[in-house]
Amino acid sequence: MSQGLLVVLSGPSGVGKGTVCRRLLEICPRLKLSISMTTRPPRSGEREGVDYYFTSASRFQELIRADAFLEWAEVYGHYYGTPTEPVNRVLDQGVNLLLEIDIAGARQVRQRLEQAVSIFLAPPSREILQERINGRGSEDAEAIRRRLAAARREMEAYREYDYLVINDRVEKAAACLAAIIKAEKCKISRGARPTGWEVNRV
Ligand code: 5GP
Repeated sequence: MSQGLLVVLSGPSGVGKGTVCRRLLEICPRLKLSISMTTRPPRSGEREGVDYYFTSASRFQELIRADAFLEWAEVYGHYYGTPTEPVNRVLDQGVNLLLEIDIAGARQVRQRLEQAVSIFLAPPSREILQERINGRGSEDAEAIRRRLAAARREMEAYREYDYLVINDRVEKAAACLAAIIKAEKCKISRGARPTGWEVNRV
């Protein structure tokens, strides 16, 4: 069985990664979302083990020392990280895995796993990103200002990624991500082989 594909998706705060990911998971039933661990408190409606594994800063630091994370980063004053063990287990089962993580985390994944495919999700314009961040309504003025300043810096990082997708419409962006995944799975260099022919035994 071939290894699953590891897909890393990043983009500036407010670009709509969550919504696009949810739609992508609906249209790609063979794709699984990695559940991150975080020290940020749960938002209303968020569920343990579904949205995140919520934990304390001291436990998180212990896990960093034990090298239990494939990547981790501090984002807006809280720790976020991807536990390594479930990633390896899922990929070994041949299941494709989606990591929705920040830019610093994506850098670490690319360094450790060069077979990962990385995709940068960008807003159609700066004005639209600002509207989306303002419209969330869940944060105070200072938090919004910080997110906007961070987004401006984060946009610079798109060059480091394999693919760039513009999120003008959720349906279109999710379809574009699905097409990238499909194409990557068809790559001969990733192990795609014709079935039922002797050519399989190289
Ligand atoms: P939020 O608190 O809004 O759920 O997420 C804040 C930011 O943390 C987002 O940019 C999200 O992509 C990022 N993030 C979520 N999980 C992880 C993770 O496991 N690792 C890293 N590096 N960033 C993460």
